[in-house]
Amino acid sequence: PSESVEQMIDRLCAKIPDYPEPGVLFRDLTPLFADGPGFKRTVEALADAFDGQFDCVAGVEARGFILAGAIANVAGCGVLPVRKEGKLPRETFKQSYQLEYGSATLEVHTDDLPRGSRVLVVDDLLATGGTLEATGHLLHRAGLHIAGFGLVMELTDLRGRAKLGGHRVRALYRV
Ligand code: AMP
Repeated sequence: PSESVEQMIDRLCAKIPDYPEPGVLFRDLTPLFADGPGFKRTVEALADAFDGQFDCVAGVEARGFILAGAIANVAGCGVLPVRKEGKLPRETFKQSYQLEYGSATLEVHTDDLPRGSRVLVVDDLLATGGTLEATGHLLHRAGLHIAGFGLVMELTDLRGRAKLGGHRVRALYRV
């Protein structure tokens, strides 16, 4: 193809100044997800980056869900939902983390996967890394092995990668 996956991501990412608050440049990947070739190439590139070295794909609510199901389907494995507090009906592990203002809590079922499963964690964008750091703690508590973190986009200035302690991190587009 004439256009690289990086070029496709750049072209199909909408940049919204001062959203959700003044000073933030919000990078909205919904146009990429809405584009057939754009979504397909993104999903395949993330699956390829981890070359079958995982047994399941965890998606972080909500944009991570869109990617996780598609990557798992390409790889022929299952999905693990990492959800916001209060959505999962059975026993869970819970992990709270700091947001710029206030905090948030994520949960995962304690027994959706056999202990020792290799889990690829995906989300749309790595900013401060707080969300994926909390997800890593949850998977660790569930006895799961982190195969790596896969992102469409990484905001390198925020140094979120440093919070992901030695695990493989692959971002298709770094800015
Ligand atoms: P963080 O925990 O700081 O790495 O933030 C990650 C989550 O916040 C991701 O799920 C992103 O979708 C969202 N996010 C943070 N900053 C931005 C931004 N500048 N543009 C779009 N999404 C963002």
